[in-house]
Amino acid sequence: MVSTDLLKKVVNELVGPEALDIVLYLKGKEKISEFKIAKDLKMEIHQVRNILYRCLRYNILRFRRKKDKAKGWYISYWGLNEREIPFIYKKLLEEKVQKLRERLEREEGTHFYLCRNACIRADFETAADLNFTCPECGEILELQDNRRTIEFLKSQIKKLEEELESIEPVTGRRKRKK
Ligand SMILES: [Zn+2]
Repeated sequence: MVSTDLLKKVVNELVGPEALDIVLYLKGKEKISEFKIAKDLKMEIHQVRNILYRCLRYNILRFRRKKDKAKGWYISYWGLNEREIPFIYKKLLEEKVQKLRERLEREEGTHFYLCRNACIRADFETAADLNFTCPECGEILELQDNRRTIEFLKSQIKKLEEELESIEPVTGRRKRKK
């Protein structure tokens, strides 16, 4: 089973905390109708559907539509895509690392100029165009020591990479695919 902790991270980051109740409710369950979810969680059906489809977009949940023979309409039955969760999280972290690397590259390869009143931060070209004067307050733009930013980005990247290493696949009984 996927850990609740991992599940929470994925849902919070991709869909939002409002989806947590539904996703955690579906953990370990199979083929639960949207009406049952709404009833059990005391939510409005349109709210439930909205969240279910948002989770579906990220492949966190899966569903099947079945015709209700008595009523003649279609009902969706939902379940958690357990095995996908670690992969979804991995992708999420990899994208973050990629963005941080791009930022790091920019920080390392550019000199930034800063207004002492913190109105603007500009790269060399932009600062030169402004005659090294802040267009907002008229103060002189000073070369910024961005070593701390660089250190911070490096440590963030390292942290994420360690977390990436620690992601484990969901093991256990493979559910029958239909
Ligand atoms: Zn300024």
